Order: sequence, then structure tokens, then C-alpha cells
Amino acid sequence: MGIIKQLPQNVANQISAGEVIERPASIVKELIENSIDAGAENIEIKIEDGGRELIKVKDDGHGIQVDDIESAFNRYATSKIEDIDDLYSLYSLGFRGEALASIASVAEVEMISRHQDSDQAEKIKIKGGEVINKKPIGSTVGTEITVRDLFYNTPARYKYLKTTTTEFSHISKIVSAEATANSNLSFKLFHDGRQILSTPGNGKLKDTIYAVYGSEIADNLIPIEVEDRYIKLSGYLCRPELTRSSRSHELFFVNGRPIFNNLTARAVETAYNKLIDPGRRPIVFLFIKVNPILVDVNVHPAKREVKFSRSQIIFDVIKKAVRKTLKENDPTTRIKLEK
Ligand code: ADP
Ligand code: MG
Repeated sequence: MGIIKQLPQNVANQISAGEVIERPASIVKELIENSIDAGAENIEIKIEDGGRELIKVKDDGHGIQVDDIESAFNRYATSKIEDIDDLYSLYSLGFRGEALASIASVAEVEMISRHQDSDQAEKIKIKGGEVINKKPIGSTVGTEITVRDLFYNTPARYKYLKTTTTEFSHISKIVSAEATANSNLSFKLFHDGRQILSTPGNGKLKDTIYAVYGSEIADNLIPIEVEDRYIKLSGYLCRPELTRSSRSHELFFVNGRPIFNNLTARAVETAYNKLIDPGRRPIVFLFIKVNPILVDVNVHPAKREVKFSRSQIIFDVIKKAVRKTLKENDPTTRIKLEK
């Protein structure tokens, strides 16, 4: 008899959870993106003990229909795409249908959701991929997901969690980026009962940056607005006087999605070259709009990175646009460059 066996569904989910759910912050990101995809206007995030104890995300989006509430936790189950080609005209943040299945395979998840067309909510509790109970309950329209006991059945992963401070700083970074990416939505973040962040949701990027990153940064912003054949750039650059020691405040959003991308970071840093001290990093909030056909969002299960085709063009456009904007709007830059 052969020795190769198909893994049971929940074991397969646990394995792939390793790629999607690296740490509590990954869960927060997936849940927030689901709320955004559901058309939420208000997203409230409550964290306890850096996410080890509790992660709760509540939104006022369209909710989930009663008949869908269990399938939402199946792997590769999504309402967002139907075909591989849909990836090239993607406007939702999610598409892999993996997040809820992954989270529920390594934690205890409780979801309460009321669909906008329904007058009742449904509550479902799942642990280690098994449905524990499911029943109707009263609630407002929207979805609330509570995650407890993270990595209870994968001790090796639990052991790799860092201190509360470190885990929370990852969470805070993600919420900050998502809030900045979505200034038309109001975000609230609490840690151990304390409010950490609250954005107005008035659609004004500058007000959101003020709420998230503080007045010193918000008071030193230069707007950038450049349109090229392939890409459109908008957002803010910070005056070169204000810098950071790491890339922590270099924020990039590609078609609305916060991403990490070495190419865009290098393009901006090249543009700031000689304007800031070596070893220091600029502060930028750069929104990059490209035809979805030129960017692959499916290079990493956590969708943190993107890959551009025609990357040289994108690099050059960003570098030139940033340099030009600084030159035209920042007097110190002009002086420094003319020397
Ligand atoms: P994906 O986002 O890739 O579709 P997920 O596992 O994150 O996969 O979610 C599965 C499905 O559950 C989604 O496609 C969506 O239909 C539904 N869903 C998840 N979270 C929410 C939410 N906050 N509001 C409404 N629907 C949701
Ligand atoms: Mg999702």
C-alpha cells in the first residue's frame, strides 16, 4: 500500500495559516481589509496583551448572510472573485479566501454578523477549524470578529511571539497604514482599554495624517500630484528637515492598498539623496495608481508585497516626481541643490 495520504482539511489549513498568519498584526490586517471590502465606514479594533489575549474587529459594513456564515470559514471560499482573470481587474483587498479559514484553524474565533437585508444577526464560534456553536442573536448591521487563544494548537508559533510591546507596535503600524490608506473611513484602535488612535474619517488625508502621525509631521507636508502615462501619484512628502532612522514612515499605497516595496522605497530615497543625512530616511505618504494589469498583488500570501511589471518606468517616474515636487515647493531643497 502506498504511503502518501491526503492531509485532513484542518491540518492543511493550519499549515497554510503559517503563511497568512505570521503574528497578531497579520490577523488585524486581514480583518480590517475584510471590513473595508464590506463597505464599512467605521472600524473599531480592540487589542489585549499585544493580540495574544484578544483581537476584536467590529465594522458597520454590509454583513454576511446567514447562509454564508459557515462557508466564510472555508478555505478558498470568497465572494470577491470567481476566476483567475478577475485578479487583473481587482478592486477588492481580499481575494484568496484564506484569511478566515487560517485564523479559525489556529485560534478560537467568534463572529457575529448581521447582513443589511436581514433583521437578525447570527453568531458562530469556531475553534481549531471546528464549529462549536451557531445561533441567531440580536445585533446591528455589520460584523464583529473576536479572536482568542491565538496559536493554542501550534505551540511552536506561539513561542515565536515577541513581547506585548513589539507585537502591539506591529499592530499599530498596520492600523496606521490602513487608516491613512482609507481617510474616508473612521478607525479606532484600543490597547488594553486605552485608546491609541482615532481618525476622523472625513476623507481628508492631511487630517488623517495629523490624527495618526501627529502635528509635527502634518505641519511639514508638501502635496505631490503627478500624472504620467502609466501611473498617477498623489499624497504628501515631508520636508527633508524631518526624517526617521528607519523606513518606518515611508508609506506606499498601490491602488489603495498599503504595501511594502523595495523599488518604490529606493526611488523615493534616491530623490531625497543629498537632501537628508546619510542613514536617515524620508517621511512620505505616496499613493500610486497604476493600471491593475501592471501590478501583481498575488506574490505573497499576506499580500504585503506587490510586483510591478515595467518597474524601471515606475522607478523613474517616482524619483523624478518626488525630486521635482521638493524642488518646486521646498526652499531649502532649492538652495541645497543649487550649491
Ligand atoms: P477573502 O477576503 O479573500 O474573500 P476571507 O477568508 O478573508 O477571504 O473572507 C471570506 C469571505 O467572508 C469574504 O469573501 C466575505 O464574503 C466574507 N467576509 C469576511 N469578513 C467580512 C466582513 N467583515 N463583512 C462582510 N463579509 C465578510
Ligand atoms: Mg479577506
